[in-house]
Amino acid sequence: MKKIELIKAYVEGDTIHYQVREDAGLGLLKKEIVDLFIRYHGDSNYDCDLSKVHRSILLTPISLYMLPITYFFNDVELVIPEMDKVLYGQLPTIYEAYSKIYGPFKKDWRGKVTVQKVVENTPVENAKYDKVVFFSGGVDACHAGINNPGKKSLLVSIPDIERDAVSEGPLREEKYSLIKNFSKVVDSDWLLILNNFNTSLFNEKVIYNCLSFEIGLCSDAYKYDGWGGIRYLANMCCVAPVAYLTSIRSLVMGSAFEQIEDKLQNNYDGASPELSDTIGFCDTTFAEQDALTVRRTQKVLNIINWCKSKNTTTKIWVCFSNDSVQCGLCVKCLRTQLNILCAGENPKEWGFENFSEKKFSLYVKAYKYNESNPCWIWDNIDTIQDDRTYPYCDELLHWLKSIGYKEYHQRAVEKARPTLMKRLLAFGQYSHYLKVIISKLTGRK
Ligand SMILES: [Zn+2]
Repeated sequence: MKKIELIKAYVEGDTIHYQVREDAGLGLLKKEIVDLFIRYHGDSNYDCDLSKVHRSILLTPISLYMLPITYFFNDVELVIPEMDKVLYGQLPTIYEAYSKIYGPFKKDWRGKVTVQKVVENTPVENAKYDKVVFFSGGVDACHAGINNPGKKSLLVSIPDIERDAVSEGPLREEKYSLIKNFSKVVDSDWLLILNNFNTSLFNEKVIYNCLSFEIGLCSDAYKYDGWGGIRYLANMCCVAPVAYLTSIRSLVMGSAFEQIEDKLQNNYDGASPELSDTIGFCDTTFAEQDALTVRRTQKVLNIINWCKSKNTTTKIWVCFSNDSVQCGLCVKCLRTQLNILCAGENPKEWGFENFSEKKFSLYVKAYKYNESNPCWIWDNIDTIQDDRTYPYCDELLHWLKSIGYKEYHQRAVEKARPTLMKRLLAFGQYSHYLKVIISKLTGRK
């Protein structure tokens, strides 16, 4: 059995450094020895001395993050020098929950976790904050924020957690200013956490190929967000040392609940409440997710009404393009602007600087709003009232209502489907098709 070992962990100012080593020839890490960090950058009220964090808590984020490697590789031993007793006790439950959502995992895939010392931690008596509220800038996060405002809540943003996150550029700058501005809206302190876990630790390609093709994971959750989603909540637990220092007991995140007609479902992905319910360390657990069964249109309406009652406004940031302005045309931008229009507001005032009634209406009517799951269109169209005159895009909203979500979705899907002519003209794809044909002929995967 080959080892992956956590060999170093130390604090330097506002940064925790880790070093992880794998046995020669294992190939699951990017390099044989990998240096990792978590950096904390808080507002002027934030004064956490990381050197006071117990080592077992210091190791919590990276331990949780590496843990899933033992779910799939039965020839791997993960060696952790110290672990918090509560977290240690939860390991079997965490495994079962991930197996349920992403698996089922087979017992014979399982590697081994060796914890050299289990430590019972006593919560620090500080009580500066009650809870962490995770904040990305999107609808679910803003809603969690307005439901948990005030000085006892610490707003925490971990931008590196996002799929395809870029560590620099205008989007990252915008994420800084989003949390600073929103902290004023809800009157909470803020903390920004940066890390290089996703970009530096695992040999993603090797692991992806193994999970997808050798092991053959095919659950809906795996198909949706795969290996990245399996480590999503662990990455959020980078907040553990600060939670310990300020005696935070509750970690609050917005729910990614969705609904279509009478079918209620929580997203089967890395943020599923069934997963967050299992994670805990020292005295801290995830709270019930915010707005567990509230529809997205209702959430947007709640955010707008709350802000108006405080005489303020906020940007709702959903776009992933690396820019200081939201593109306005991607699926996430489109559905959120529709949410805002259905609430009778101008998207320009809620973070969509590029919004234009004319351009937006033309775009939606050209069936460019296309997503595999039509729940977002249903959610918007369902709330449009026949007898209401909307201040913005009134004609578009009533047109959508007359079309209905099923027909709209169907036409959008047809529009997106490449025609034979389009395919023949797609010369750039030829090399890909040739590769597929060759690999089929030679029997390679
Ligand atoms: Zn966008």
